[in-house]
Amino acid sequence: MLTEIKGLHHVTSMAADAQQNNDFFTRTLGLRRVKKTVNFDAPEVYHLYYGDETGSAGTVMTYFPFPHIRRGRPGTGEVSETLFAVPRVSLDYWKDRFAAERVAGVQEDERFGEKRLRFQGPDGDGFALVEVEDDPRAPWDRGTVPADAGVHGFRGVNLRLRDAGATAELLRFMGYEAADTQGATTRFAIAGNGADYIDVETLSVAEPARQGAGSVHHVAFAVEDRAAQLRVREALMDTGYNVTPVIDRDYFWAIYFRTPGGVLFEIATHEPGFDRDEDTAHLGQVLKLPQQHAHLRAQLEQLLPAIRD
Ligand code: ZN
Repeated sequence: MLTEIKGLHHVTSMAADAQQNNDFFTRTLGLRRVKKTVNFDAPEVYHLYYGDETGSAGTVMTYFPFPHIRRGRPGTGEVSETLFAVPRVSLDYWKDRFAAERVAGVQEDERFGEKRLRFQGPDGDGFALVEVEDDPRAPWDRGTVPADAGVHGFRGVNLRLRDAGATAELLRFMGYEAADTQGATTRFAIAGNGADYIDVETLSVAEPARQGAGSVHHVAFAVEDRAAQLRVREALMDTGYNVTPVIDRDYFWAIYFRTPGGVLFEIATHEPGFDRDEDTAHLGQVLKLPQQHAHLRAQLEQLLPAIRD
């Protein structure tokens, strides 16, 4: 069993409109945009990162806004819901806020003993705010949401799978333990950075998801450094997983592999972090390009839609 995984690192999804996406995460949810860059594999598309002050692992929601892509169709083999931790007794504040902002799909419920407020992002993205007692992670307090209600970071994600068996086995191998079961969902937990839960829901009758706007593209798990990442890569390959080589994403190093249930997993390092190419006070304000696309700056600045803050 691995001991290197420290909880989630980031969750990456797709959107149809960069401005709408930016407004939802920075204004409605009150996160900080910590990086404005491009999709390194398709530089004509933005890669926008939202999180806490520094973009700590376990807080960072990221998006590829592909202009006008069609909406995804929910189904099996995907992350169906991303969970954010918020302070205890803050859900009333969020209910009022979401009503004022006309957020879709708002619904209160309780799962694994936690009060939640489910809601949808601009492209039908599945989210929930979860009330958590004493989460030590400081919310971004210079945004639009007061700190006593602000988002601490992720609580976890919900995987919706046709067959959970092999994925449950993989999570145990990665260091997670089954903590609870409610209905068709088993909660796996790890002692990590706070973004510590993977809920695995089995839905054997549903169709496979079709990815599009509002779909999660992949979920990334955190490791401390490149040495830890190499150990994880070796161990996964020894277990039979087809893992990519280590890829430089400028702000972290990444490896990817497809899991048996269909969800794409990434393992990402804490190093070097989002202050690698701009200081913490000014994160996310100007367009940052990786070295391999720096020569495209003039074209990309023409092509990419301007984002008003
Ligand atoms: Zn990623």
